[in-house]
Amino acid sequence: MKQYTALIIGSGFGGQCAAIRLQKQGIQDFRILERRDFMGGTWCQNNYPGAAVDVQSPLYSIASEPYAWSQMFAERDELETYTHGVINKYGLRDKTDTQTNVQSVTWNNEAHGWDVATNNGHYRAKYLINASGPLSTPVIPNFPGRDSFQGEAFHTNHWNQHYDYRGKKVAIIGSGASAAQVIPAIADQVDELHVFQRTPHWVLPRPDRKFSALQRKLLGIKPIYKLLRWIIYWALESRVIAFKYSPKLRFLFAQSHALKFLKKQVKDPELRAKLTPDYDIGCKRIILSSTLYPALCRSNVTLHDKTDGIEQINASGIQTAKGQQVDLDLIIWSTGYDATDGVISYPVIGKNGNSLAEKWEMFPRAYLGTSMPEFPNLFIVTGPNTGIGHTSAIFVIESQMNYIIDCITRLEKNRKNTIEVTPEAEAEYTDMIHSEMKRTVWHNGGCNSWYKSKSGHVIAMFPGFSFTYRFLARRFKPQHHHIA
Ligand SMILES: Cc1cc2nc3c(=O)[nH]c(=O)nc-3n(C[C@H](O)[C@H](O)[C@H](O)COP(=O)(O)OP(=O)(O)OC[C@H]3O[C@@H](n4cnc5c(N)ncnc54)[C@H](O)[C@@H]3O)c2cc1C
Repeated sequence: MKQYTALIIGSGFGGQCAAIRLQKQGIQDFRILERRDFMGGTWCQNNYPGAAVDVQSPLYSIASEPYAWSQMFAERDELETYTHGVINKYGLRDKTDTQTNVQSVTWNNEAHGWDVATNNGHYRAKYLINASGPLSTPVIPNFPGRDSFQGEAFHTNHWNQHYDYRGKKVAIIGSGASAAQVIPAIADQVDELHVFQRTPHWVLPRPDRKFSALQRKLLGIKPIYKLLRWIIYWALESRVIAFKYSPKLRFLFAQSHALKFLKKQVKDPELRAKLTPDYDIGCKRIILSSTLYPALCRSNVTLHDKTDGIEQINASGIQTAKGQQVDLDLIIWSTGYDATDGVISYPVIGKNGNSLAEKWEMFPRAYLGTSMPEFPNLFIVTGPNTGIGHTSAIFVIESQMNYIIDCITRLEKNRKNTIEVTPEAEAEYTDMIHSEMKRTVWHNGGCNSWYKSKSGHVIAMFPGFSFTYRFLARRFKPQHHHIA
């Protein structure tokens, strides 16, 4: 049994931020457990063609770690370089056990800590920070005949770098954010590309730009970097007014632009009709791309909408609902992640022997999306209702860290063993979240999205301004917690 003060599960930005903040508080006795054989999370795992961030990079970065980005929306390779830079700067490699898949975690009442079972032995720690990622467990729907296909098939999350797709007949299943990046990246290199779209997404142009050598130098100056972050932050934050409070503004400032953009880029009325969503903009994640529509207009690209969707998959390809056989060499699953019902993929057993999965049977919930009654000293990074569509996920992760580190340092300073949010505080917080949610486009925008759990509750998103979340997480409220 390896013992630590704190264990962090996952080495993405969530795990890195937790490790940096623990170190800054003088807590060095922690370990990061990572199931993969490399560190870094999202941007080290997702290496599909076209992978890039869709929030401006100066904002989508750790606040204390500025970087001279080469372009406004960094591509995956640069994000990986950035991630490795952070990991190396803080010596996190020496503090990580890779190939260590957490299989279950159980609260130990006698030891006042968490027992963690992995494929790489047992661990125990007083504090457990789960940073296993909101979009880290890919999903492939069980289409009839799915496993009978004899060609190559992989999820965008597990792109096979050794497979040469050039000149091949390819299908991509799904039309969300990852598909929207893959399609323009490969369309001109494959023989045929069949896009199977269940629902169209709203698309807006991507205001990307390369930074000149001088601009990159300026980015290296901390106050300038901070100012740019500040400008981007408030420009993005203002969108919440439309998405939460005003369908009219939503139409005026976003949906009408998206319709014009579609009309400008797609001349064929039949294709345009297939690409026009029937729900409010923002209800599903908006796609930022200036290259998607031109790729879909190519003569070697066919868009199959839901009237022409997958009837069944067979050894040589896909049979469509219209009875057409599409022969294929490669199927790319761009079918997303279990982001709502599978927030934590391993069993978590709390102090009364109850599992978190039972507590979350109705829908996942947590105080500040981070802590749960009966699960002392456990903190969930990017937990329920911490997602944020309009700005950087890292901003929310850093806000969560304020709360988590406050809890831990209070315990350590006062030589206490456990901290646990009260059931009343958690219930009050969750009620507030779901009552606020009723006013948002994610709830009433007329779509079904991965933001919603099976229960119909919107679980992925925080229903408001990101600064409201930061404010709530900054103010530690002793009356909301039992400290023992
Ligand atoms: C393709 C893609 C594009 C995205 N684009 C954006 C964007 O533009 N803007 C934005 O704000 N957000 C975006 N996101 C969301 C992104 O997930 C967050 O921004 C952020 O990277 C989350 O960091 P994380 O550390 O919480 O999770 P991750 O980066 O997913 O890291 C989680 C880590 O935990 C490990 N892990 C999981 N389970 C276990 C286990 N049982 N045992 C041990 N280790 C485990 C995983 O292997 C992984 O390394 C995107 C996500 C994806 C997948």
